[in-house]
Amino acid sequence: VTTREASLKRGVNLEYFSLLWNAIETIVGLIAGLVSGSVALIGFALDSIVEASSATILLWRFRGEARGRPEEEVERRAIRMVAFAFYGLALFLAVRSVYDLITRARPEASALGIGLAIGSLIVMPLLAWKKRTLARELKSRALEADSMQTILCTYISAFLLVGLVANAAFGWWWADPVAALAIAVIAAREGRELLSEGEHQH
Ligand SMILES: [Zn+2]
Repeated sequence: VTTREASLKRGVNLEYFSLLWNAIETIVGLIAGLVSGSVALIGFALDSIVEASSATILLWRFRGEARGRPEEEVERRAIRMVAFAFYGLALFLAVRSVYDLITRARPEASALGIGLAIGSLIVMPLLAWKKRTLARELKSRALEADSMQTILCTYISAFLLVGLVANAAFGWWWADPVAALAIAVIAAREGRELLSEGEHQH
């Protein structure tokens, strides 16, 4: 087994872990959101499904190379697909923010929801850091972009937590949707940057 093969295998394992954590965010977030009637938590759960698409793309990319597809080709296609995953996340966050603002949805405090947000705040930065280190090793721009998705998930979890606490303490129900809107802008810019880099290379 060459070093590169071993690194690709580590990439596959990292992305499986990414999918697993996103599944936990989705399932626990939905349960906590439905029980407490919190639209913010339900939105958080649904956006984890969008985030999982980036991990799925990277799984396809690593396995493709491990099975002998040309590295340059799978990498280029993965970068494009991750760019669209960023656009998908941006669109989803924008729609949910506007919906929350129009309906004045309150992010009701829920112990389970707060526990989930804290869990993601601990796990996601570690995962992003591992992905970033491996991206440098593999010289994979696609994995570097995917690690940015993981960082955005950290921001989303942090703002969810702040939103839940701000509403409970001061009644600032708008804190979470306003923050989600800001993250939507970051995600859209990231997607645009990835696409323009791809064009410059060819
Ligand atoms: Zn997430």
